[in-house]
Amino acid sequence: MNIQSVGIVGAGQMGNGIAHVFAQAGFDVLMTDISQEALDKAVALIGKNLDRQLSKGRISAADRDAAMGRIRTTLRLADLGRTDLVIEAATERETVKQAIFEDLLPHLKPETILTSNTSSISITRLASRTDRPEKFMGFHFMNPVPVMELVELIRGIATDDATYQTLLAVVERLGKKAASAEDFPAFIVNRILMPMINEAVYTLYEGVGSVKSIDESLKLGAHHPMGPLELADFIGLDTCLAIMNVLHEGLADTKYRPCPLLTKYVEAGWLGRKTQRGFYDYRGEVPMPTR
Ligand code: NAD
Repeated sequence: MNIQSVGIVGAGQMGNGIAHVFAQAGFDVLMTDISQEALDKAVALIGKNLDRQLSKGRISAADRDAAMGRIRTTLRLADLGRTDLVIEAATERETVKQAIFEDLLPHLKPETILTSNTSSISITRLASRTDRPEKFMGFHFMNPVPVMELVELIRGIATDDATYQTLLAVVERLGKKAASAEDFPAFIVNRILMPMINEAVYTLYEGVGSVKSIDESLKLGAHHPMGPLELADFIGLDTCLAIMNVLHEGLADTKYRPCPLLTKYVEAGWLGRKTQRGFYDYRGEVPMPTR
């Protein structure tokens, strides 16, 4: 199937990045959210990020204007029914995602492909609640989307080959690389990455190291570009906790139990960069460790 128009549900940090790369690759983008403020913020941020690419000489002013011109927003989810491909990138909660697909179904063209950018939730289960499990896939972008090369493609048990091949071609058109993962909790990247982040939080919780010493250790001792706690703040601590819960419940193994300190930060509403506070406090000029 030839994809030209893309509907994106959720204009948070992932939704705006996904809109950015699709518009840049020439797709028509229609983005929705429950919050007008989130939509306005997303469009402003995409403009800022395109300006940065322009100032570095990576794109021309005409490319920037063309990309911005391909992005439209709406508060009505039903408007996305006319698009060829829907990418759900709303909050990492299964009930939220299920409700979105349920509300969208009556408005969809028969050929529209449905995807979720979920980091961990079962694609097969999400697909089974729709009228088109064979046209449903996991389409997992990495953060920040304009920078990261990888997209994980996750087939549910019923996904057909035509859908998989169509998304593979879309990934190529975006100039990114695809990795195929089976539909098991958290797929490949987060199955490996999240337990490491959770272990870093345990290391902090047990007093083995401070925020600074843990992050410095992994940066200087393992050549990671970001420390694990810095990375957790970047991803969002609510998203990290949600993924650990999916791993813990889905694989029924205590080695995936979320660290109580991670839960406490989320309970405090300290979700990382997006709320200005997490393992670091971002309200000043330089990020300050909060422990
Ligand atoms: P976020 O909190 O930045 O944004 C979520 C957005 O969804 C918000 O703007 C919210 O208003 C919107 N939303 C909530 N309910 C909605 C609804 N019913 N309809 C429309 N919009 C709704 O979250 P995020 O980090 O962008 O994560 C979004 C998805 O992407 C999650 O499934 C997450 O697991 C996945 N993901 C996140 C990362 C990451 O590093 N943050 C990486 C890969 C995938």
